[in-house]
Amino acid sequence: MAYPFQLPDLGYAYDALEPHIDARTMEIHHSKHHAGYTSKFNAALESHTGLHGMSAIEIISDLDALPEGIRTAVRNNGGGYVNHALFWDVMTPGGANAPAGSLAAGIDASFGSFADFKAQFEAAGAGQFGSGWAWLCARGGKLSVTSTANQDSPYMNGLTPVLGVDVWEHAYYLKYQNRRPDYLSAFWSVVNWDKVAERVAAAG
Ligand code: MN
Repeated sequence: MAYPFQLPDLGYAYDALEPHIDARTMEIHHSKHHAGYTSKFNAALESHTGLHGMSAIEIISDLDALPEGIRTAVRNNGGGYVNHALFWDVMTPGGANAPAGSLAAGIDASFGSFADFKAQFEAAGAGQFGSGWAWLCARGGKLSVTSTANQDSPYMNGLTPVLGVDVWEHAYYLKYQNRRPDYLSAFWSVVNWDKVAERVAAAG
């Protein structure tokens, strides 16, 4: 998929992740926030036809290669476009509550146990000062937890994100207010581990 980028469908209803993530938050987050990143990303690229054949991930993976005048706009809005597309894709109502198979083995090998991984991921999300994301990333068969500020993406640092949680206040404030850790623990109830496993396999 290339320019002009389209707002992706969620693949489920706005209320599908209730009670963990409320319908109103999902609706505003998708139809206003993600739609905004999408249109601003397209606006930044509009007059740069040399970039129109590239995927969004290709574009944000090498910011230094971009014309300086659009670098910040692409970092923020291209990052926001890609980050949210992943976020919707790795959530599902009523999915498996833990990874299975080779992903489960990989998590145990990288973090000690699934519980240790969850604690590290939640700490990354809770500890991200201000707006940002917590991530599970894959590179060269290894898994790691990281966080990024604002709409920065692990792709900008040479990593492939396979699971991410948005810790901007717009992602949780209506239901959880200041209780970001409660939102992070509820997130486990909506993770789509099948999609995470597909992304790990594709990352190589
Ligand atoms: Mn968001």
